[in-house]
Amino acid sequence: MKKAVLFDLDDTLYEYGPVHKQALKASYSILKKKIKIDWEKFYYLFNLSKSEIHRELSGTAASHNRVLYFQRLIEKTHSTVDPKVILDLYNTYWNTFLNNMVLRKGVIDVLKKLKQRGIKIAVVSDLTTNIQLRKIHKLGITKYVDVLVTSEEAGSEKPHAIMFLLALNKLGISPHEAIMVGDNEVADIEGANFVGLYTALLSSKRSILRRKKEDFRKPSKIIKNISSVLDLLD
Ligand SMILES: [Mg+2]
Repeated sequence: MKKAVLFDLDDTLYEYGPVHKQALKASYSILKKKIKIDWEKFYYLFNLSKSEIHRELSGTAASHNRVLYFQRLIEKTHSTVDPKVILDLYNTYWNTFLNNMVLRKGVIDVLKKLKQRGIKIAVVSDLTTNIQLRKIHKLGITKYVDVLVTSEEAGSEKPHAIMFLLALNKLGISPHEAIMVGDNEVADIEGANFVGLYTALLSSKRSILRRKKEDFRKPSKIIKNISSVLDLLD
């Protein structure tokens, strides 16, 4: 019998892609009032800045920090830093993002049922704590979440074992007593498999079923809907 479920946050409890794009468009509308730049150029420079920061800060929570992406972008467009513009883009991005996130279908129901069954809930996520706390608040899942582990707090990102071990440690349970649920085969599944957790990959793709048994990226189970988590507890 399982005692806890560890959930990834981004793209597991809500869909990341659409809100990211929406938030980026809002930031773009701020910048285009100040300088002449088309969307394609902005999008290209944002992704270029992001990949530079990722490379430089690989494996750390700061590698996801949008303030660094926007700073780098403005250094490219303005050939200097402009604190007001950078912070405006950053705040607009997150305000838009946070105001438009939508929980995946069935999430609240699953969290509620887990709580009723006395199962503890952890959120294990790569990013900074400030933003992930704001997401938990905005998604309205605060009362269900017992512990949060971020890569900022743990000092390393998934698939590093510390992310999962810190969550288990906070909950006072052993690996065999918990399930990890996530959308990423490397970060969520490989990482949790190494620690000895039961792993559930949230995916609609079929190809991953073909992974070899000894492959550490092979999840214990592939689930199409988050509500299937309830069938994995025994
Ligand atoms: Mg994810």
